[in-house]
Amino acid sequence: MPIYEFQCQTCQFCFEEILPADRQAPPECPRCGSAEAVVKLISACVTKTGPQDGPSCAPRGGFS
Ligand SMILES: [Zn+2]
Repeated sequence: MPIYEFQCQTCQFCFEEILPADRQAPPECPRCGSAEAVVKLISACVTKTGPQDGPSCAPRGGFS
């Protein structure tokens, strides 16, 4: 089953959930318990873990 990434708009908490394909409703936020403000993320979750020297997956040296 695919792993979906969600972010709670209430507390900005990012989390992953493995959901069955027929699951339509977003899960509850494991931090604050709110389900109304949880949105599914299309791309990777942007976490504020501190400054980093750019995404590790991006090609380097592409600027001219
Ligand atoms: Zn939350």
